[in-house]
Amino acid sequence: MYRNANNYRPRKKRRRQSRPSLWQMLLTTALMLLLWVLFTRLLDSLPEPAAPDVEGTGVSLGDIDMAAFRKEEPWIDINGGVPGFTQEERTSTEPFETYAELDELGRCGVAYANICRELMPEDEREGIGQVKPSGWQSVKYDIVDGKYLYNRCHLIGFQLAGENANKQNLITGTRYLNIEGMLPFENMVADYVKETDNHVLYRVTPVYQGSDLVAIGVQMEGWSVEDEGDGIAFNVFCYNAQPGIAIDYATGESWENASVGTGQTVQTDPSQTYQLNTKTKKFHLPDCSIAIDEANRGVYTGQRADLIEMGYEPCGRCKP
Ligand SMILES: [Zn+2]
Repeated sequence: MYRNANNYRPRKKRRRQSRPSLWQMLLTTALMLLLWVLFTRLLDSLPEPAAPDVEGTGVSLGDIDMAAFRKEEPWIDINGGVPGFTQEERTSTEPFETYAELDELGRCGVAYANICRELMPEDEREGIGQVKPSGWQSVKYDIVDGKYLYNRCHLIGFQLAGENANKQNLITGTRYLNIEGMLPFENMVADYVKETDNHVLYRVTPVYQGSDLVAIGVQMEGWSVEDEGDGIAFNVFCYNAQPGIAIDYATGESWENASVGTGQTVQTDPSQTYQLNTKTKKFHLPDCSIAIDEANRGVYTGQRADLIEMGYEPCGRCKP
């Protein structure tokens, strides 16, 4: 009895004092709704905090210095590693994949997809050898893993969206770009999507200088949607370079240059001496086994590119 009485009274008292009237409750609800509406309007009107900002902190695409490429660093962060997707894009769970039309020089543009299980391939990869991306050359070097300098490089990897011989998704890329630069990011995204069944915004942009036929590299951006970038968030530039080999990005021509990949590339085409056949307009290394008629033999010392500009072609045997 004692306990009951003691408990009962204060409780009743409290309840009486604090019980809100129906009007108070309605008013409070209305006020909260109004505040919510005002708050969301305010949010909408604010500038997107992580909108693309090429002039932002850190390295921007315009700062890329190919001569500073080091083979230990296949990619560098762009804009502090923050991808440039808009706030609206970042919440999209709608699967899509888009590939830019080739430009007037036959070059690929932006490839962009919302990677998810639905887009991933179930079929085996098919041949892509029939596609000749801009600047394509079939050249071999002993110092390249697999010999071939260039691979047909998927912008959006086959394992992510299952695109085979899509010419809007294949660029002339070095073996090094393919394996050391892009593949780790592709694998990371593929593993993440398989583990979580989430969506990953994934955009790959080839970066060309002027009217070059070969990209100096690709910008890769990724963002996992459902966990708001917790699992995947990157914005990098991967070098389309090959340690030990110089590339003329205008044409795709290449030659051995030990300084490439050291961080201090000697960019200029080194001056060299060639033998010329002034009749066939071929140029050769001085020790080429092909004999040139005395009457047509010439010697040239200078840059290879200048020789080509003069109408000369490299010999197929000595491959100068
Ligand atoms: Zn020759």
